[in-house]
Amino acid sequence: MLYRVIDASELPALVSAFMKDYEVVAPVPSGQSYTFEAVDSFDSIALDYPTTITSLKKYLLPPVETLFTFDAKQNEVTDFSVEVVPRVLFGVHACDINALNSLDIVFKDARYPDPYYQARRDKTLIVGISCTPSETCFCHLFNADEARFGYDLFLHDIGDKYLVSIGSVEAANILEAACNVREATDEERIAFHNATRRHKESFNPDIPDVQDIAMLMDAFHEDPFWEELGGRCLSCTACSSVCPTCYCFDIRDTLDPDGDTGRRERVWDACTSPQFALVAGGHNFRDESAIRVQHRMYHKLNGFLANHDRMLCVGCGRCVQACKAHISPIEVLKFFDEKGRASGLVNDPESNSENREEVACD
Ligand code: SF4
Ligand code: SF4
Repeated sequence: MLYRVIDASELPALVSAFMKDYEVVAPVPSGQSYTFEAVDSFDSIALDYPTTITSLKKYLLPPVETLFTFDAKQNEVTDFSVEVVPRVLFGVHACDINALNSLDIVFKDARYPDPYYQARRDKTLIVGISCTPSETCFCHLFNADEARFGYDLFLHDIGDKYLVSIGSVEAANILEAACNVREATDEERIAFHNATRRHKESFNPDIPDVQDIAMLMDAFHEDPFWEELGGRCLSCTACSSVCPTCYCFDIRDTLDPDGDTGRRERVWDACTSPQFALVAGGHNFRDESAIRVQHRMYHKLNGFLANHDRMLCVGCGRCVQACKAHISPIEVLKFFDEKGRASGLVNDPESNSENREEVACD
C-alpha cells in the first residue's frame, strides 16, 4: 500500500478537484443526524460524523430502478441502458467500505454479474475517512473497522494532517494535482499507529465479542430466544432499509394507462416483510415475524460467512438505532455470549482466570 501525507487544510482543494469530473456525495447534517447527499461545496460536508441514518447502497442499487421498458403491442423491448453519473463517495467509514465490498461479491464478482450494479460501480470512486466509534458501533468484532481494499483513497486523521492510503491510479492523479503530497515521516507514521490504537480502544466494551457466533446459532437454532426476539418485530422493515448490506429485491412489471407499454422494475424488498416469502397459491413459508427475524440474523451472522468467509453484518449500528422494537445483532451477540458460556460450548475467560488463581493458590 502506498502512503502519502497532506495537510487537513488541503481537503477543500481535493474535493474541488473531484467536482470537476464527478458528482461528489458526502455526509451532511440532517436534523439531529447525518445523511449522504450530493454536495456542491466542501463547506456543506460534515466529516466528523458518527454514522449516517441510511447507507450508501442507494447509489449502486437504487430503491426503484427500471431494468427495461416494453411495448406489448409492438412486441418490443428496449435494449439495456443505464445512465451512469461518474461519482465520488467522499468521507466513507471503513465499515461502509466493507459493506460495499460485500455487495461487490454479490453483484459484481459473482458468476453472473449484475450489469446495472456493475455499470455504476465502475464509475464510482470511494474516498474513505477514519472515524470515532459511537455506542452502537461494533464493526471491530467482524473485522470491518479497517478497510483493506475497496477504496481509491483513504484519509487517516493524524491531527492537522491526513495520512492517505492510495488505492487507485485515477484517484492518486487527482490527489497529486490538487494537493501538496509528500512522503510520510517517521513521526507521522507513529501518529498513525497511535491513532489506530486509540480507535481500537474506543469501542463500546459492553458489546461482547462472540468468536463462535455462527456455531452457537446452529447449536441453539430451536431456542425460545428466537421466538422472544422475533415476536417483538413490528415488520416495519426499517432495519433492512438502513442496512448497508441488505440487498434483497423484488421485480415488478408496471403497465402504463394505455395497457400496452410499461417497464420492468427492480425495487428494494426486505426479508422482514410479511409478503417477502409469499408465493403463488397464497402459501407463505415465513409467515411469522419470529421466523423472519431469525432468518435475517442468520443471513447476517451465519449464512454469508459460510459461503463467503466474511460476516454480512459490518457492525455499523444503523439497525440498532432504527429498530423501535430493540431488535439487533447486538441482542443476538449478548444472548449467545451468555448461552455459550452457560452451556460450556465457549470458554468463559473469567472462570478460567478464577481457576488459574485457585491453582496458583494451591
Ligand atoms: S426487526 Fe425492528 S426494524 Fe426490523 S422489521 Fe422488525 S421491528 Fe422493524
Ligand atoms: S445488520 Fe445492522 S449493524 Fe449489521 S450491517 Fe446491517 S444495519 Fe449495520
